[in-house]
Amino acid sequence: MKKRYYKDIERAPFSFVFEDSPLELIDRTACYDIESFEYFLKVRMKNVSSRPIASVKVRISLYQSSNVPYKKINYVYKVKGNKKASSDIIGENDYIPLPESFYKSLDFTIVSVTFADGETLILNLSSSKKPKLIAEQPSHIVTACELIDDSESIRDKHPAIIFPQFGESAWICCCSHKNRAEAERCEVCTRGRDDLKEAFSMENLNRVAYNEAHGVATMTQRRVKGEFLDKREPRVIDTQKENLIEEQKKKVEKRERYKDKMRIQALPRIALYFVLAYLLYFLLCWIFGVLPQ
Ligand SMILES: [Zn+2]
Repeated sequence: MKKRYYKDIERAPFSFVFEDSPLELIDRTACYDIESFEYFLKVRMKNVSSRPIASVKVRISLYQSSNVPYKKINYVYKVKGNKKASSDIIGENDYIPLPESFYKSLDFTIVSVTFADGETLILNLSSSKKPKLIAEQPSHIVTACELIDDSESIRDKHPAIIFPQFGESAWICCCSHKNRAEAERCEVCTRGRDDLKEAFSMENLNRVAYNEAHGVATMTQRRVKGEFLDKREPRVIDTQKENLIEEQKKKVEKRERYKDKMRIQALPRIALYFVLAYLLYFLLCWIFGVLPQ
């Protein structure tokens, strides 16, 4: 068979994870054969289960202007030798022919997966799921996301673009790389799975945003800055310490307020002393009968 050469037109990652699926979508590439000018779609998937997969049935729906697909393409990925081990990529060499007509959007659905042992799992998982982009969040959340993402070297090379998601068999990092559930660190940017889970919770982000607005460094911020090496143990002690600091701060504020009050009242007080001294002088003069003329 003659070797074909393809040129990529558009490549897009699937930046989300399915809640519970043996397969995850990695990316899709639209390309064309440089000789025949026929169009193809290449979709890469990752086996995130521990079982070898034999085949994957998919459906591609093409849309133009309406919400109803004008064309549906069914395709079966056959894994050579039926021995694809887990975490292997499926679809690296599959080019699915696309019609020449223009399509506005495309939906890729994993219909079912057949494992090497013969069992078939119906999935019907659609690629129309959208990732939650950090840039589309309210500004205080965007700022909080920047604050919790503390390592400059990681941030520069692999910026956080989406909210991390955690599925049964895979998780997606904020750098948009998809990892198997067991991976404790992202294979691309090395951010920690559990740290991300904690840091990117809405509760934490809101807290970071609030504290930033009120000029308070959060425990997480202080922890990532290396103030605490152990994140579990010193929490109680630190709450006490913070209470103590808070109390001391209040005492200092009270003292300052008193000083201010005294400072403000100083002039009227001096004026009052003069008036009293003058009155006393008059009184004494009157008593001793030497009232000034
Ligand atoms: Zn990452």
